[in-house]
Amino acid sequence: MTRIHELIDRNAAQRPDRPAIRDCDGATYTWAEYAALVAEAAALLESYGAAPGERVLIVAENCLALPVLINACSRLGAWAVPINARMSAAEVARIKAHAAPVVTFYCGHISREAQAHAGAAPEVATAFGTLQVEVGSPDPERVDGDPAILLYTTGTTGDPKGVMLSHGNLLFAAKASADLRTLTEADHVYGALPLTHVFGVASMLMASAHVGAMVELVTRFDPAKLYQALVNGANVLPAVPQMHALLMAHAEKTGISRLEGARLRYVSSGAAPLDPAWKRKAEAFYGIALQNGYGMTESTAGVSGTRNAIGDPDISVGPPLPGVEVALDHSLGADADVGEVLTKGPHVMLGYFRNPQATAQTVQDGWLRTGDLGRIDEAGRLHIVGRAKELIIRGGFNVYPPEVEAALNDHPDIVQTAVIGRAANGDEDILAFAVPRAPGVVSASDLKAFAAERLTGYKRPTHVFIVDALPAAATGKILKHRLLTHFADLVQ
Ligand code: ATP
Ligand code: MG
Repeated sequence: MTRIHELIDRNAAQRPDRPAIRDCDGATYTWAEYAALVAEAAALLESYGAAPGERVLIVAENCLALPVLINACSRLGAWAVPINARMSAAEVARIKAHAAPVVTFYCGHISREAQAHAGAAPEVATAFGTLQVEVGSPDPERVDGDPAILLYTTGTTGDPKGVMLSHGNLLFAAKASADLRTLTEADHVYGALPLTHVFGVASMLMASAHVGAMVELVTRFDPAKLYQALVNGANVLPAVPQMHALLMAHAEKTGISRLEGARLRYVSSGAAPLDPAWKRKAEAFYGIALQNGYGMTESTAGVSGTRNAIGDPDISVGPPLPGVEVALDHSLGADADVGEVLTKGPHVMLGYFRNPQATAQTVQDGWLRTGDLGRIDEAGRLHIVGRAKELIIRGGFNVYPPEVEAALNDHPDIVQTAVIGRAANGDEDILAFAVPRAPGVVSASDLKAFAAERLTGYKRPTHVFIVDALPAAATGKILKHRLLTHFADLVQ
């Protein structure tokens, strides 16, 4: 197998009548139907100029059209560029200018935001939904090679970067992730992770297609709907930590202490640091182990993942996946056992699109520099302690924001926190932004006192701000580089 759409074709041949996708409106499509829609979409794409090496921009949220178009691009050798409709018009414009697509599709019927982006673009009705289409021009400097997807990073530390992922990258990640989760065709995967993010498209969509499992597409995460889906039979739940936190908060509010009578068999957290307190709470609620997976857009998601039993205090991100190498580069001068995480293998991206310089800085001799700081324990498990860019140095000591966040999240009235450093008088201040479970239940000074009981002096936040919500990406990941501007009034 050399192209991602062949996964769909294989399922259509082997299990034509099994469910493949449940769309966000509840309609279920079999593998045979899904494959037929992909073929139809490929013909449509071709009529708009999609060809090998050309980009096809898809502005959408999770709905049937998104996986159909991604796979249709694969049939033509074009690159799918899926981006989230929740981005601002300026962000969409920036990505569009960078990707230079031959055609842009907006899934307007599912998302008001996508419709707004489409503006006056003409509408086409297809068997997989109504789309708005804007035709661009073929790229004179067309890039050949075998990218299947051009995927933009979350933009946690700056502007999103365009990552070229090959068919081989995605097929490897699909198998690795399916194996880690022991997925089978009998599974019903709850698809709340956006397909515009690597965890959604690789570890969720492609992994399910690898074995023929069904994905239920969820347009917008809603904890009440997630709870209902779990009661109604969804049995695999890949999510980001923020989704688990929101579900726990919902359960607490509605007086549900644990999930009863569900067939849930696998729950995971990935894409952002998992907090020990949330892991404990989530396991008590789900009644099964919460696994932690680590990766990034540049590594086609999967680098490592845990296979823990329930109650295991382990908060590592597990050992490397089979076929993946992990090493530490200690030259950064962080703490002695901590180094920058490097990884090598078939999961490493082809490179950043139109940025050979950044590619050369990031991938050296096949080793991807992750920008994350980690350590490896005696059992060979990787622990992520924070990002190199976000490391705070206070009074000459290293402070890792996730450790401070974990201490604050232990407070029973706190749902989410984000900690960053800010230069002050030749040193760094530690700023903590905290979201309480309800307005007014906890004050900044309460939280400071709480932190003082748990953290040694230099790790304690110098400033605590109680806020309603944190700026987040479509996945729920917190956009840390926006905190200071977002809360400019508070932080002065
Ligand atoms: P940008 O690169 O644009 O700043 P980003 O790094 O957040 O954004 P992604 O590729 O979505 O973009 O996220 C990958 C990053 O998320 C990793 O480099 C790591 O910092 C973090 N991450 C992923 N999984 C985990 C995990 N299980 N625990 C801790 N951190 C994680
Ligand atoms: Mg990154």
